[in-house]
Amino acid sequence: MIKKVFLITLSVFLFSAYSYAQEYVPGEVIVKMRNTGDSGSTNRFHQKAQAENGMELKQAFSEMKVYHYKINDQDSVENAISNLELDPDVEFVEPNYIVHKATAFDNNVEHVSPERVAEMRNNELRDEAEAIGYPIRNPGQNSGNNKGVNQKLGALSTFVPVVAVIDTGLDINHDVFVDSGAIWQNSGEIPGNGIDDDGNGYIDDVNGWNYITNSGFMHDDEGHGTHVSGIVLKAGIDIFADPVDPSPMKIMPLKFLDHTGSGSTSAAIAAIYYAVNNGANVINNSWGGSGYSESLHAAIAYSYDNGVAFTAAAGNAGTNNDGAPLYPASYDVPHIMSIAATTATDYLASFSNFGKSTVDLGSPGLYILSTWPCSGSSCGHSTSSGTSMAAPLVAGFAAMMLIEAPTMLGYQIKSILFGESDYVSALDNKILTDSRINGASSVAFSKTAAIDPDQPAYTFVPLRSLSSADSGGGCGLVKRMYESKQPPKIGRGGAKAPVGISWSLLMVLGLFAAPFVVASVMRTQSKEPQVNRRKHERFSIESSVSLNVNGENVKGSVSCISAGGVQLSTGALLEKGGVVKMVISSPDGSEQIEVAGQIVWEKDKESYGVQFKNVQEAVSSQINEWTESLEPEASES
Ligand code: CA
Repeated sequence: MIKKVFLITLSVFLFSAYSYAQEYVPGEVIVKMRNTGDSGSTNRFHQKAQAENGMELKQAFSEMKVYHYKINDQDSVENAISNLELDPDVEFVEPNYIVHKATAFDNNVEHVSPERVAEMRNNELRDEAEAIGYPIRNPGQNSGNNKGVNQKLGALSTFVPVVAVIDTGLDINHDVFVDSGAIWQNSGEIPGNGIDDDGNGYIDDVNGWNYITNSGFMHDDEGHGTHVSGIVLKAGIDIFADPVDPSPMKIMPLKFLDHTGSGSTSAAIAAIYYAVNNGANVINNSWGGSGYSESLHAAIAYSYDNGVAFTAAAGNAGTNNDGAPLYPASYDVPHIMSIAATTATDYLASFSNFGKSTVDLGSPGLYILSTWPCSGSSCGHSTSSGTSMAAPLVAGFAAMMLIEAPTMLGYQIKSILFGESDYVSALDNKILTDSRINGASSVAFSKTAAIDPDQPAYTFVPLRSLSSADSGGGCGLVKRMYESKQPPKIGRGGAKAPVGISWSLLMVLGLFAAPFVVASVMRTQSKEPQVNRRKHERFSIESSVSLNVNGENVKGSVSCISAGGVQLSTGALLEKGGVVKMVISSPDGSEQIEVAGQIVWEKDKESYGVQFKNVQEAVSSQINEWTESLEPEASES
């Protein structure tokens, strides 16, 4: 049989891993070792890399078996990658990509006089604050210009959340941060004694870490990080008041972008590990790059596993991230919030990236007033524009939500932020939620939400190891990508509870679950290994499917279905990683559902595992009805 080869345009991200058109740090690579169970394999690799290949280990992220290497001076990055990939113990090797801050327009920073700040505070800033619901402060403290919000919220807990700002640093001498006490202090570190007192691998990391100078000396020679940090804080207190209120949260600055606003992926990874391992509850990422880094993906998955909330700027090219992704915003890790920039009148900012599937939520990002590094004795304010300015307000709200409910996990915070956002028509069909953030509603909802004790497991899957061999036999669908745990109370037992069946998949695909799903279950603090998890129940069925691949219709048959995907056979040759549109008929042929999916495995070029994307509730409900009377396949563990 002659099979047609379909190239699927939406699989571009697969190819970006193989072409190094993106900028990267010369002479460096990032290696991830396989979890083979052979504890000696990594050491053997290190020895061989150093002795035979003349490589030098620069950083080790042992939790994820990820290692940052300098290669031999005589070698090229491409050549080193080709050679290292041959090692069976190596899971992947990649360049150390360069990323950039995410401000819009060049040199768009405008310094604002104290008089003008006061004027703005009484006018446009007040309007924005009222519309979006900030600042949200501890009641009983200095009165500000938005008392209504506080009155609605009532008593907050004494929990002080930590927001890591991975950026160009922070001017820790700026009045706003000094006076509000907002700067994170590492209580385990004695300043200036030249000793790593808390044994976290960093000497004198008193307020965070500076990956540019490799020291605990924190400053901001660019301004971006200080501006972003002020916006985080703005969610909690009025940063333009004099004096400012005590901060209800702490900012942990991690400087990895240099004075030009550029930095390396290896430093970003180190900063994410630092944030997670040193107690950050929220991580803001107002930066990005187009290079798909698997090791950055792994670091973000680590932050998800540890329950941290994660905001990322969607980017400022005015383009569609669904087709041209920007990382980290476009990774599929379930807790990532990809934030677009909106204007004061609730339009999408002209520069803001968008994307129906991959950009989540709007937040103000045009001419945003915030803190700017001090010059001499004068500590200033500036306006700046970009999705860089949109993401940190969401991070700040995430922190304020944690004060209401300190045990919330990152993806649950995301779920509430999405559910409580305000629909605005200008975002309709442009981004996933069609909505702009509403801080007051999100924080208020957090107060009443009972919290899930656990989160769906996210299994980090390096792109290069996706193969049919991993998929197992039988009816084994999507088991490698996302493994779900059905929440108690809303299980299959209730025939009309389709959301319960599909909720974790909805989560991992970036859609929000209805708040009542989040509110239905409780969470513990423990981080138990994710074993004994149940997957989507899978059912053997016989039905037909029509596939639309690049505009051409192809017929096939479905042999297995779950709320998360299907196993199908077709004469068309489909490409792994590609996205197809499917019309699936019910076993009796009387009904049809339409759903898109991504091909996650392939066997013998005729059998494919397709994982659903963006599953609508009606689709889940239909699948539920079709399979109601069937016995699920025996689960695999
Ligand atoms: Ca230390």
